[in-house]
Amino acid sequence: MIKFIAGLLIAFNAVSVTLSSEITPLPDKVACVVADRQDFQIPDRVQLTGWLGTRIAANEGNRLALVDTDRLLEGYRKRPGRQTWDGEHVGKWLHAATLAWVNSGDPALRAKLDETAAELCKCQLEDGYLGTYLEKDRWTRWDVWAHKYNLIGLMTYVRYTGNLAPLSCCRRMGDLLCNTFGDEPGQRDIINGTWHVGMAPTSVLEPMVLLYRLTGEKRYLDFCNYILRAWEQPNGPKIISTLLTQKRVEKVANGKAYEMLSCLNGTLEYYRTVGDPKILEACLNAWKDIVENRLYLTGAATSEYFRDDLDLPNAALVGETCVTVTWIQFNAQLLRLTGEARFAEHLEYTVFNQLFGAQKCDGSAWCNTVRGDSKKPYASALDGNCCLSSGPRGVALIPTFAVSTDAAGAVVNLYDAGTAKLTLKDQTAVTLAIATRYPADEQIRITVGLAGDKKFALKLRTAAWCREPSVQVNGQPLAITPAGPDGYVAVQRSWKDGDEVNLRFKLEPRVVVGDHNNSGKLAVLYGPLLLAADAALLGDQLKGLKSVALPSADLAALAVTPEPAPDNYKTWPCAQVFRVNAVPRQASKSGQPATALPIRLVPFADAGAGGSNFKVWMPIGQTEGNLLLEERESRSRRGNISGSITDGDPKTFVLTFDDKAAAEDWFAVTLAAPAELRRVVFVHGKTFHHGGWFNASAGQPQVQVQTAKKGPWETVGLLRDYPATTATSAAGLNGGERFTCQLSKSVEVYGVRVAGKPASGDAPLQAFASCGELLAE
Ligand SMILES: [Zn+2]
Repeated sequence: MIKFIAGLLIAFNAVSVTLSSEITPLPDKVACVVADRQDFQIPDRVQLTGWLGTRIAANEGNRLALVDTDRLLEGYRKRPGRQTWDGEHVGKWLHAATLAWVNSGDPALRAKLDETAAELCKCQLEDGYLGTYLEKDRWTRWDVWAHKYNLIGLMTYVRYTGNLAPLSCCRRMGDLLCNTFGDEPGQRDIINGTWHVGMAPTSVLEPMVLLYRLTGEKRYLDFCNYILRAWEQPNGPKIISTLLTQKRVEKVANGKAYEMLSCLNGTLEYYRTVGDPKILEACLNAWKDIVENRLYLTGAATSEYFRDDLDLPNAALVGETCVTVTWIQFNAQLLRLTGEARFAEHLEYTVFNQLFGAQKCDGSAWCNTVRGDSKKPYASALDGNCCLSSGPRGVALIPTFAVSTDAAGAVVNLYDAGTAKLTLKDQTAVTLAIATRYPADEQIRITVGLAGDKKFALKLRTAAWCREPSVQVNGQPLAITPAGPDGYVAVQRSWKDGDEVNLRFKLEPRVVVGDHNNSGKLAVLYGPLLLAADAALLGDQLKGLKSVALPSADLAALAVTPEPAPDNYKTWPCAQVFRVNAVPRQASKSGQPATALPIRLVPFADAGAGGSNFKVWMPIGQTEGNLLLEERESRSRRGNISGSITDGDPKTFVLTFDDKAAAEDWFAVTLAAPAELRRVVFVHGKTFHHGGWFNASAGQPQVQVQTAKKGPWETVGLLRDYPATTATSAAGLNGGERFTCQLSKSVEVYGVRVAGKPASGDAPLQAFASCGELLAE
């Protein structure tokens, strides 16, 4: 992999120097009412070659350039598509690949774009329809959604290539939508009977605003106004009104994050165009709510759905990449509209951690979801995987906001080696050459390139995590506190060619002590990077990832020290790992305090790169507590939800539901090494109308153990405090209730399970049980 990435870098540099002329995007016909405070940069102006540059080049060379576009077009050439949202991928690819081509100038990618855009347009039907559904199924499920992405992809292509041919295809799609949906007699209601309370189809707002601006046709703006009215219909998602009054995203419609953020990105495009300040207020309320209550430490904005405040389960669909990318777009939109550094701060954190954590380091594959622990589920086949075409869009957007311009001058948001060729508002050309190994080094040197002297502000984002940033201009230290009201340090002076700015962001370790689902655990960060323990880097002193604990939250005891990454983690030339003092999770039987064992943590972005298990949250201190924590779990029937009974979180329960009856169900945990058992605690999962508990009238649930590895299960006790349930009555049993079996003497075990007869509630043809957590001491 190292050689391959090095090869990519060389190819990437070669392309960037052969760029003959800058690309001028097609201008809009309609001017925006709200002027951007910070400008969207055309991706050829910002050429990055450090860590970000490596990931951007990998995204283009190993993913976007290699995607089988016949597969993307398949559902259009032969309707219906193989599944209901198969139509979204081609538009998402056109959007990402166009931005990537503008950045690299790669002629092969351009040829692929030309062919794919033309082939997609050929699939448009006479009336303008460009979805993957049969006529009889039109406008159900994800049909408008596919038109949204086709509009985004084709308009991005038209705008940057100047090839106007697909514009008529876009107009015909827009006209069809305008004619089909509306509140006039004979028109369809765009909300009625669609996914996520209408948020999926109405997210077509974003490209319809863009189509209005590009063509100047007022009917497209009328359609956007219709969408905003439809949101507030009795059956609508009430996005803006809820965000203005309740200020909480999980109260909006069904809380589905990807669709809601897609709608919000459209509303900001609408706000830019028509200037309704209520929309910006609603979006800022949403942003604040997400930042304060719904962000994972990895930078993921919620699980698949926005949930209650700080209800951030570690299992299930955590960190969907589509949500990560729409969250990046949302921050980038707010950065442009407000010019405030706080949005750039979140862009850096999300890109460096969650986005790169979802991208395979060589760019070839993506994860649908990425948790703070587990393995990275890298995949490269698009089938049914919305995130595989979303991830590349997020990476392709980086050059548009990494370095920018505003009314006062130039702005640096993300620090990476490279060059930004900027045009200030008065058309002065300024080049910023950035030399750095950041985030592997704290020194950043920016050299200003100018034709003559010019007075302007160079705005620098100083990282919120950095206690001691320092800035020097031509060797002279600069007082940098407090930063300006927009959050940037503005260096206002008359700049000359060759002026040099040296920044230093002291890179230091930090710890975050977990709460809620992560209480008793600790996470370690280093500068902007979240770190993780990785099974592939533990060595043989510790028995696997589950045996890793950290001695305390004291930074001196942890002694976090960066060092060059070993070959299997050399994901870019300056890649690092971080030595830290760990301790074995289980205390020794002798009661002797453990000696610290140095292990190496790895950036979350690189964790599990070779398929190993990793985890961000590590237990603090040694424990004689739950022997089963993070051990191997199983159950009699797989059930239909994904939770865990060994994650320390009783809320992430599992169940055995498969719509069938069963004489017995069990929940088991097997241990990697035998342990002395004295007490077992069973935590009930959840009571449903049709079951979820054990039927104690057939006998109290039994505690069973294996006394030999893979040996037979032997009953050693009962959950005597389990309530007097029956097949149909849960006897008031609630989720999270704990039941205990105390053994008369300790026994050495390889496995523990709780077994009993499942209950059927009000559906007698089936039965199932549930479990929130199984604990043992
Ligand atoms: Zn997705």
